[in-house]
Amino acid sequence: KKDTPCYVSGSKIRVVVRKRPMNKKEVNNHEIDIITVDSDDIVSIHEPKVRVDLTKYIARHRFRFDQVFDEDCANEEVYRCTAQPLIESVFQGGRVTCFAYGQTGSGKTFTMMGKRDDGLYGLAGQDIFHLLKQPQYSSYRATVSFFEIYCDRLFDLLNNRKRVEALEDHSQNIVIHGLKEFDATCADDVTAAIDAGQNARSTGTTSANADSSRSHAIFQITLKGPGKGGRGERIIGRFSFIDLAGSERGADTQNSDRQTRMEGAKINESLLALKECIRAMDQQHNHLPFRGSKLTMVLKDSFIGENCHTVMIANVSPNSGSSENTLNTLRYADRVK
Ligand code: ADP
Ligand code: MG
Repeated sequence: KKDTPCYVSGSKIRVVVRKRPMNKKEVNNHEIDIITVDSDDIVSIHEPKVRVDLTKYIARHRFRFDQVFDEDCANEEVYRCTAQPLIESVFQGGRVTCFAYGQTGSGKTFTMMGKRDDGLYGLAGQDIFHLLKQPQYSSYRATVSFFEIYCDRLFDLLNNRKRVEALEDHSQNIVIHGLKEFDATCADDVTAAIDAGQNARSTGTTSANADSSRSHAIFQITLKGPGKGGRGERIIGRFSFIDLAGSERGADTQNSDRQTRMEGAKINESLLALKECIRAMDQQHNHLPFRGSKLTMVLKDSFIGENCHTVMIANVSPNSGSSENTLNTLRYADRVK
C-alpha cells in the first residue's frame, strides 16, 4: 500500500478524482488507457479525435484537483484522504457529505461499498464506533438510514422500498416522514444495513425499481445526543454518503422512450442543482438553490452552516471508449471545486 500524503485543506469542499483500472473486457477489446495521473493532484485525459479531413489526433486536457488517486489506490487510501479527516467534526455538530460522481461502471459503488464493507461506508462506520466508545461521547448514539431517490421519489431501502416523503417542517428543516432509522451500536450493524439496503437496491421488479444507475442512493449515519437542558434528543451530527446516479444518464434525454427521457431529465436536473448548491456553499451565498431537486432538498442541512463539509469523489473509467463521459465528469468536478 502506498503512502500518499493527504492534503487536508481548511476548505469546506474537497474534490478528488479516482481512476479505476482497465477491466478484462476493455483490454481484450484493445482499448487504450487514456487517463494519466501526472502527480498527486493532476490528471490528464488524452482524448482520441478525428479532424474534418479525417486525420486522427489526440487532444490532451489537464485538470488539477485536491487529490487524484490512480488505479492502484485501495479504498482505505481513498478513505484516509477524503472522509476520515472529517469524522471527528460530525461529533462536533458537523454535517459531512461525501458524493461519488461518475458514469455507470466507473467505480462509484466500489468506492462507497467496496466488496462488502471495505468501502467508505464501512470504514467510516468503524471509525465512528471507535470514537463513540470514548467517554466524552457516552451520551451519544448512532442511527443509520438508507434510501434511494428515483425520479424525485424517495424509497426506503431498509423498509422494503417503502415510499417516503421529504417535507419541510415549520422551522424549515427537511424531515423525511416514515423513513426507518435503525439503532447501530457497532460496525457490524452498519454492515448489516449496507447489505440489506444494497440488496433492496438491486432486486425487485416494479418499474419504480430501476437499476442502480438511474437512482441516487443515500446512506446516512446520524449521531444523536441529549437535547438542550437535558430534554429530549437532538441531532448532533450526520455523515451522508451518496452513490449518485450514473452521470451519463443525465444525457439520456433524446432518442429514447418517454420513461427514459423523464429519468434522464430528472437526473440531469439533480446533478445540476447539486453543482449549484456546492458552489453556493463555498461562496457563502445567502441563497442556496436547494429546491432545484429532491436530492439537494433532502441534503439541505448539509449545505448550510459553518460546520458543513463536502467531499466529491469523481470516479473515472480509463478506457478510450469512455472518453466523452470521462471528460464530462472531469469538467463537472472542475466546476464544483
Ligand atoms: P458504478 O457504481 O460507478 O456503476 P462499480 O463500482 O459497480 O461502478 O464498478 C464497475 C466495475 O469495476 C465493478 O466490477 C468493480 O468491481 C470494478 N471496479 C471499480 N473500481 C475499481 C477499482 N478501483 N479497483 C478494482 N476494480 C474496480
Ligand atoms: Mg453502482
